[in-house]
Amino acid sequence: LYNLLQDLKGNIRVYCRVRPQKMSTPTPVLIEDDHITIITPSKHSKEGRKSFRFNRVFGPSATQEEVFSDMQPLIRSVLDGYNVCIFAYGQTGSGKTHTMTGPKELTEETRGVNYRALNDLFHISETRRDTFSYEISVQMMEIYNEQVRDLLATGGINKKLEIRSSSQNGGLAVPDANIVPVSTTSEVIELMNLGHKNRAVSSTAMNDRSSRSHSCLTVHVQGRDLMSGAVLRGSMHLVDLAGSERLDKTGAKGDCLKEATYINKSLSALGDVIASLAQKNSHVPYRNSKLTQLLQDSLGGQAKTLMFVHISPEYDAAGESLSTLKFAERVATV
Ligand code: ADP
Ligand code: MG
Repeated sequence: LYNLLQDLKGNIRVYCRVRPQKMSTPTPVLIEDDHITIITPSKHSKEGRKSFRFNRVFGPSATQEEVFSDMQPLIRSVLDGYNVCIFAYGQTGSGKTHTMTGPKELTEETRGVNYRALNDLFHISETRRDTFSYEISVQMMEIYNEQVRDLLATGGINKKLEIRSSSQNGGLAVPDANIVPVSTTSEVIELMNLGHKNRAVSSTAMNDRSSRSHSCLTVHVQGRDLMSGAVLRGSMHLVDLAGSERLDKTGAKGDCLKEATYINKSLSALGDVIASLAQKNSHVPYRNSKLTQLLQDSLGGQAKTLMFVHISPEYDAAGESLSTLKFAERVATV
């Protein structure tokens, strides 16, 4: 029934989340139900105003729990053998990591989607223990400058990994990335800490690499029907995307320009893939970036996609907010 309901809602959903302001200053963002309006400063006396509608719009006061509760049917369908992708999109500082992971000092209340999703998987699989036996395992990877690295590697993350066609190897798109069985939330927290530490080590050379790379927590679920012995597989990618802000191309040089070019390329490839799925095109351009290759099995077909777009409430971000919302509008099918 859950999957039926989800199917009726369509396989691509877009949620928008506006983070709280750091100081209470005037904001160009207005929220009303599932509409969000941006007021853009204009050189002329008249202000620009543009409204967008999404499946859900969460305002600054929405809690982690509220944001997650809407996703629960999606998580449940992973245990039924579906592939699911959840993205956090937005400019640096808009709240992507807050949604997916949470703030630096984590409490049970402030934990993000990653922890809550795994917690739910453990919980629901437990309630099905009389009929199904589930195995849950995770991988954690980073895509930086179109190179895939294993964030759960124990000897450093310098090895570059290949993405394979996953039909032959049990749904593993990156078979060489460490895959770790998990059964409790504390195991997950330990792994995520390792992943974050690995990421932090590599960012010392470059300033804040974490906002210039995509990070992906991939969850593999295998369920065996205890009566028939039939096996089903589901997967879930939880992706904290690189910051979507447009770098000033004329000013950016060297490494910065290279990073910006790769980020642009992969985010627009992602937009193209989701847009062509939303329009039910027969050709879907998965091959155009490492990101879309990695996620190929979880985008399209029976797979379910949730794009979470993040908006900063500040005036100086209004231009970026507008381009974020335009990106989201392109993939939204409301
Ligand atoms: P991003 O990952 O998009 O660069 P962050 O998640 O790091 O952005 O958020 C930037 C800052 O704003 C962080 O200090 C974060 O804790 C805070 N923040 C973001 N979203 C929220 C929220 N919904 N509630 C409270 N603080 C938030
Ligand atoms: Mg971040």
